[in-house]
Amino acid sequence: MRYRYVCRCCGMKIAELERADLSEGQLGLDSLTPEEREHIITKDAGGDTVIRIICDYCRDALDRHPELSLVGNPLQ
Ligand SMILES: [Zn+2]
Repeated sequence: MRYRYVCRCCGMKIAELERADLSEGQLGLDSLTPEEREHIITKDAGGDTVIRIICDYCRDALDRHPELSLVGNPLQ
């Protein structure tokens, strides 16, 4: 199974892992609420797990312009 981390703001691919034996803790997913998991963890058409996080660039932009986060995700 493949895990792909993409930025949910700009869509940039951040990382890709090809390991089947990773626990959710290793993936950084164990602290998510069920609601967050629903939004963050998705599957693509090929069966890969896509984890939608925020890249450093967008995180930085949100830190400097917190009002941007109120606009919502244009990709949704
Ligand atoms: Zn981004």
